Amino acid sequence: MTPDDLAFDQRHIWHPYTSMTSPLPVYPVVRAEGCELFLASGERLVDGMSSWWAAIHGYNHPQLNAAMKSQIDAMSHVMFGGITHAPAVSLCRKLVAMTPAPLECVFLADSGSVAVEVAMKMALQYWQAKGEPRQRFLTFRHGYHGDTFGAMSVCDPDNSMHSLWQGYLQENLFAPAPQSRMDGEWDERDMVAFARLMAAHRHEIAAVIVEPIVQGAGGMRMYHPEWLRRIRKMCDREGILLIADEIATGFGRTGRLFACEHAGIAPDILCLGKALTGGTMTLSATLTTRDVADTISHGEAGCFMHGPTFMGNPLACAVASASLSLLESGEWQQQVAGIEAQLRAELSPVRACENVADVRVLGAIGVVETTRPVNMAALQQFFVAQGVWIRPFGKLIYLMPPYIIQPDQLRRLTQAVKDAVRNEAMFIA
Ligand code: PMP
Repeated sequence: MTPDDLAFDQRHIWHPYTSMTSPLPVYPVVRAEGCELFLASGERLVDGMSSWWAAIHGYNHPQLNAAMKSQIDAMSHVMFGGITHAPAVSLCRKLVAMTPAPLECVFLADSGSVAVEVAMKMALQYWQAKGEPRQRFLTFRHGYHGDTFGAMSVCDPDNSMHSLWQGYLQENLFAPAPQSRMDGEWDERDMVAFARLMAAHRHEIAAVIVEPIVQGAGGMRMYHPEWLRRIRKMCDREGILLIADEIATGFGRTGRLFACEHAGIAPDILCLGKALTGGTMTLSATLTTRDVADTISHGEAGCFMHGPTFMGNPLACAVASASLSLLESGEWQQQVAGIEAQLRAELSPVRACENVADVRVLGAIGVVETTRPVNMAALQQFFVAQGVWIRPFGKLIYLMPPYIIQPDQLRRLTQAVKDAVRNEAMFIA
């Protein structure tokens, strides 16, 4: 990367959620290996982000690379309309086997947001086919489900700036975010507003959509499993579908293979993405029950109305299968439990810091919520100078490292977080 490349990047390339006129600095990465990112400047950074929940096995993994290399020699891509192939079949076999029993029909798509669109369309077509069209979704505030229009319509209205899309975005139903914490007592009052909303709109709601246990990008909040059991019961009583968006939480991140397992429930529709390919390629999957799939298939369209160009991409399916094989060895369970214990031990002391509002840990996720918004650019630079890659947002500094991280590497991450929150220069004045 030359200085000219960087100037071109700043002038012409959009990065996630950035301004084109005053973009935040970007750090050129030339290589990634294990739990480290290598910058063009020669620095090595311990990765605390898993590239946004995805790179659970670390970077440049030999088995994942081998799966991709061998698939490239056979075919990188072929259309999925009228064609099938072993990488897709083998991946879907694994997904059906590892997810809760009622989920047995798999739709492969390109990204997490599209998996959510697919899930929402499934719910809409389901009700259409039953001759009782329904158009609304019930969800929590502080949720995040992606950046496409359907997904945005169930994201937190303030965080996702629904005001920008007024008149265009479907108006869905938002219950207050859960207050009963994962690490606290269940409070019966938590349910009241949600139950009221469901009762008032029971004949309009196609599905409830939630991120199980951990609300990710909408606030990194961790809520009590009793919530999911209650929602499951209420949905069953009303015949309303339940969509679990496990795009962030799936594949072991919360200490269970899927976060729904904390509550012992199964959704009617499950969205997976991110870590599905071990963070190597973009791929998502939406799974549903035979009943939902059959109902949709008997409807007016006679089929499910979705079929992306890169559906079932063989290269992505091959590496996803290899990633699931790594998970099947079960080693992730000790790794995630070890990370959880260390995060608890090393992050808990910062609760006492006056800039810290809360510390939350679950599985391989550690969150420090500050009392004031952080100065993103200053904090990013500080972290890089400490030899770590941590990407904060708003009042949230959080860690979700690859499962293979070593204790000394994790200690560098937690130490950097501790040093940051004690440093006044890291906050917006
Ligand atoms: N749902 C959840 C819970 C997510 O965390 C994300 C991504 N942050 C998405 C959906 C959207 O996934 P993608 O960015 O791959 O479209």
